[in-house]
Amino acid sequence: MQVEKGTRISCDGDSARKVHAVGSEQAASETSEAYSNGEEHMTNQLKLMCVLAHPDDESLGNGGILAKYAAEGVETYLVTATRGERGWFGDEREYPGLEALGKRREAELLAAARVLGITRVDFLDYIDGDLDQAHPAEVIAKIVGHVRRVKPDVVVTFGPDGAYGHPDHIAICQFTTAAIVEAASASSLYYHDLASHAVSKLYYMAPTYQLGVAYQAVFGDVVMHVDGVERRGIGGPEWAITTRIDTKDYRQIVWEAVLCHQSQLVVYRQLEHASREHQKELWDCQTYYRAFSLVNGGRRVEGDLFEGLR
Ligand SMILES: [Zn+2]
Repeated sequence: MQVEKGTRISCDGDSARKVHAVGSEQAASETSEAYSNGEEHMTNQLKLMCVLAHPDDESLGNGGILAKYAAEGVETYLVTATRGERGWFGDEREYPGLEALGKRREAELLAAARVLGITRVDFLDYIDGDLDQAHPAEVIAKIVGHVRRVKPDVVVTFGPDGAYGHPDHIAICQFTTAAIVEAASASSLYYHDLASHAVSKLYYMAPTYQLGVAYQAVFGDVVMHVDGVERRGIGGPEWAITTRIDTKDYRQIVWEAVLCHQSQLVVYRQLEHASREHQKELWDCQTYYRAFSLVNGGRRVEGDLFEGLR
């Protein structure tokens, strides 16, 4: 399977469509070719969309579910807000600059998406680290456009903790949640030329305390300093997890996807040295919080993001 930026692979050949985003010229000029001709939602093809902040959030944070659902025939979509332009671990004097590193990381993400079998990748074109300063209406409008064109059943994004307090992760959680409300509203001012679409289930990534321990064992203290305050990933309580997805059969695929992020491997290669027990925490299960569902409920832990939809 091949993935190109902004191009749907198993596409039904809709021609480029002028889009109208509220908020900025940049959003309005975004291309939107080849999504759907509007007939597709009449079928029962299941669709998963991940809306994330940086290249590698898909492989490290959600690689297991993306690989698993693609293998099961679910169409998987990825919207990434930035190109990770500030993710540089080398000598500062060798930093290639925002644009050059962004291009490199875009290519790495597209390679990882191919490995994970992702149908289509789109970028929101923000700069790494700046997302929570972006105009909310502009970001929300862009996500509404993607949601209305793709018409996903299930959307996955970061939780309110941003995994370890990363402001971009927290911002994409808030923007995505708002966009899902807007996308479902027929009276929304965003992309009013596209039919409204109600996402059936929204999930927040819910890393466990044990996963945090595994990361800490490999990387040491994972800490961010934001506004003079230390932020760490502590993981949520086990009882708050609504959904556990068994992803152990996809370990190898996920690792191959991680390896596509060449510019980040100085750091990620260390994951190979994790203990057997920590490897299990890292790859064998992914945990989520069901922020809302229009199709099921209750406190029994789900083993499938599409429970209630099949
Ligand atoms: Zn990230």
